[in-house]
Amino acid sequence: MNVSYIGLGAMGYPMAGHIARHFSTGVWNRTAAKADAHAAEHGSRVLGSVREAAEADLLITCLPTSLEVEALLPEVLSGARAGLIWMDCTSGDPVASQRIAAKLAEHGVRFLDAPLSGGTAGAQAGRMSVMVGGSEELLAQVRPVLQTCASTIVRVGDVGAGHAVKAINNMLLAVNLWAAGEGLAALAATGGIDLRAALEVINASSGRSNVTENLIPQRVLTREFPATFALGLLAKDAGIALDLSRAAGCASPAFALIESLYRAAKREVGAEVDHTAVVRYIERLAGTEVR
Ligand code: NDP
Repeated sequence: MNVSYIGLGAMGYPMAGHIARHFSTGVWNRTAAKADAHAAEHGSRVLGSVREAAEADLLITCLPTSLEVEALLPEVLSGARAGLIWMDCTSGDPVASQRIAAKLAEHGVRFLDAPLSGGTAGAQAGRMSVMVGGSEELLAQVRPVLQTCASTIVRVGDVGAGHAVKAINNMLLAVNLWAAGEGLAALAATGGIDLRAALEVINASSGRSNVTENLIPQRVLTREFPATFALGLLAKDAGIALDLSRAAGCASPAFALIESLYRAAKREVGAEVDHTAVVRYIERLAGTEVR
């Protein structure tokens, strides 16, 4: 199977590297220097255009949002032959994916949404989780490619379902991160409490999560906030989760609050900073520091 990969960002660059070790892989990136570096590091081929990328058996995209994915449609269709499979690994919008899939189907091109989890560390280690929306039969065809870079691959429904589950997963991350930040800020402001000791016992108790076990100790208490997953992208995911819940007719008061808090935080501390830097905004509101 011939693979083309578009979007060599924090997730795409290492993911395409794993794939290139097992499949003939062409890469295209908006900033061409990243594609050149990828070819030199991973033995992929640099593609000259999106149109050329669409000539493969499998086209993979990993872009910031479904807006950038949908914008590729005309050029993909100009190069695609019937039978092309397009797998979108963006954390995208389920409604946009269903629209894209319907348009592609008119041209004999099949679509899967397959968003990723595990962060840049999971992408580098080839141990991501993938939430797939699309037919069983199509997943069977792309599974060998996903197995080069993922340890958990789960089909959750038809097109759009992968993006829906990913949005809810990231809403849970956003909730946990906000709650842990607010909780630790309260403990810091109280005074006389060692935050590392507090986390040690929380992590052996019922309040623990990936946020308290990993993100806060490694990124917040160290004050490093290493930029691997942008705050703006998490705010986008919270928005998708809220839209999804509302479209399904559910009352979602907590989702609505969290979504607006992350939108405000993005404006106050910046869209490009690491998502854990939302704690800097919580600190401003609380008048203390989590350290
Ligand atoms: P990055 O910002 O690191 O990379 C984005 C990629 O998209 C780059 O290759 C960029 O090209 C390309 N791009 C941006 N805008 C356009 C455009 N208009 N046209 C063409 N290409 C474009 O993002 P991530 O890799 O962090 O995230 C990608 C997706 O994966 C997002 O949906 C995110 O939510 C999700 N995700 C991210 C995780 C993480 O830990 N970072 C974890 C799980 C999911 P260029 O190099 O030119 O800027």
